[in-house]
Amino acid sequence: MDSNYEQLLDRAFAHLPDLSAEKSDFKIPEVDSIIQGSKTIIRNFGQIADVARRDEADIAKHLSRELAAPVSIGDQKLTVSAKVQAAALNDKVRKYFETYVVCKECHKPDTHIEGSERGYETLVCEACGARYTVKRS
Ligand SMILES: [Zn+2]
Repeated sequence: MDSNYEQLLDRAFAHLPDLSAEKSDFKIPEVDSIIQGSKTIIRNFGQIADVARRDEADIAKHLSRELAAPVSIGDQKLTVSAKVQAAALNDKVRKYFETYVVCKECHKPDTHIEGSERGYETLVCEACGARYTVKRS
């Protein structure tokens, strides 16, 4: 009985239309990291860059500065030359998304950067058309 009910629920949910493209509850990807010796490897770095639609090098530069540690990119992974807990990495990645990716108006990640001048860039939202200036740290 119970398992049948769960199956029905599963089926009901499966038939709901996919509203994810319309909703603004975009989830910032969680870092999948592992500490190896004195280094930390972000194993899903390529995926994070894909979601952000930013260059891996740009995110890497930001993280390196934030963590005050050298980083290197390779094979869709980021190696940080320091021991960093996942919580701290998630904090930095979240800040990157909040500052440079997610639209402050509609909270969607469908944005791109237009030009840069004197340490400032224009963030343009493709979903709602908002434009605003972000400062490069
Ligand atoms: Zn927007």
